[in-house]
Amino acid sequence: MILNEPILKNSGNNSNLLEKNNIDVALWMRFLQELKLSKMFAEIPDPRQQSKVTYPLSSLIHWALAACAFRQGSKNAMQTTLDGLSLQKKAGIVQLLGSHEKCPCSSTVDSVLAQIEYENFNQILLKLFDRLHEKKFFYNHVELLPDNIFHIGADGFWTHHYTTPHTADEEGHNTCPYCLPRKHNVGTPNESVTWVHVCVTFMLICEGITLPLYICPLKAKQVNTNQSDDGLKQECEATATKAVLPMLRERYPKLEFTFLGDSLYANKPFIKLCNEIKFDYVIVLKETTLKLLNQKCNELAKTEFYQQHYTYEEAKLAEDTIELTHRKAEWFNHAAAGDNVYTNVLRFEETIQNQNDNSTSYRGAWICSKKIFQHNCFKSAKTGRSRWNQEDFHNTAKNRGFSIQHDMARADPNLLMVWKLMVFIAFFAFELFRYSTVAIAARQTRSLMKFAQDMLEQLVNIAWETIQGSIILQKCRVQFRFNFSPGP
Ligand SMILES: [Zn+2]
Repeated sequence: MILNEPILKNSGNNSNLLEKNNIDVALWMRFLQELKLSKMFAEIPDPRQQSKVTYPLSSLIHWALAACAFRQGSKNAMQTTLDGLSLQKKAGIVQLLGSHEKCPCSSTVDSVLAQIEYENFNQILLKLFDRLHEKKFFYNHVELLPDNIFHIGADGFWTHHYTTPHTADEEGHNTCPYCLPRKHNVGTPNESVTWVHVCVTFMLICEGITLPLYICPLKAKQVNTNQSDDGLKQECEATATKAVLPMLRERYPKLEFTFLGDSLYANKPFIKLCNEIKFDYVIVLKETTLKLLNQKCNELAKTEFYQQHYTYEEAKLAEDTIELTHRKAEWFNHAAAGDNVYTNVLRFEETIQNQNDNSTSYRGAWICSKKIFQHNCFKSAKTGRSRWNQEDFHNTAKNRGFSIQHDMARADPNLLMVWKLMVFIAFFAFELFRYSTVAIAARQTRSLMKFAQDMLEQLVNIAWETIQGSIILQKCRVQFRFNFSPGP
């Protein structure tokens, strides 16, 4: 059955909540059912003594998910919303959590989450990805994955910065394994130490949507912390990638993956790794990296033969504007990088000229696992440039109500990581939800943060019977449709 009913026009006006319509939060609840998140949560091994259990494990995890997905910013903000509510007013929350008539408090949630190894929540991200496959999501949305290739980006994400240890032993020594020390003013009387948490995020970068697939927090013992911030970030990314890409390949032996990386990955060992695990790649190439390769390409570029046969340029006038785009590519296939490693190099230039004769230019170069030809040179450049979507994701995780930098737990590093993973799970689910046609219609012009926060308000302010009456919760089968075309 396809859901095609008109959606509530203005969720702020409760008097218009006709039974026939859908209340926003009902859409979200139905969407979570569709993702089968409760089942995934219930499959996590329960660390508790079952005779003493009050709440199902999945309901406690749902509590954490709700705090993140409804963008409460902190556990306390979520708890404050729930404090003092009558049983009747808690009915919606109880339904959302599946918590057997009662609503757990944040300390109960924490005490249980603390006992679950955070890696279990990485597995939830992967299971969400599996669920999309099971529902033939990518098959039905070819616009997201041209050529059916999954583009994976990796980027270091500095989530926390501490000036004092957030957890310490009796002597005041930092005992958090994820705290990477940063020394300042070394050798001077002002020498001091601060600490950072670095997660490397592995994202699925599609046309129109970016989803987290796996999060790798680095431990201090895994990396050399006696180096510059840039050096540390690079080492974190390299270390995480060496572990995570082979894991993805093993888990998904048949999927076609292309790794999108910045220039730190433009090195021979990494090219060898990609070849070994059958990952394609498009990696930023700077003049200063892979010098031999760059030198070779510079020499070839000067020859008439290359200029004639291995370059392509075109100028296009946009249909709806009077912008003129001029693009030029040159490429060098099977170029030697040394040590018997060969790769393909693409160099690309673009100039966009507007009606006032102002122009913006872009220049980029990449090493690509696939050979470059006239027909795919611009497409490969577009793929290489798409990794910037990941940066936007990091901004969202920090700023738009997800507040990943907030200390959800101080004394327990594993719990802190569990909460961080929960932000990524909430992001994954909400990001998909927001592109569903029902959510687009319901949200209207509200920001995503307001849309999410309004849903929690609905849950506590609108009688559960009314929410339950939403047509989307009444149907036994619902097929969500999506629209990924960029909105206004
Ligand atoms: Zn720490």
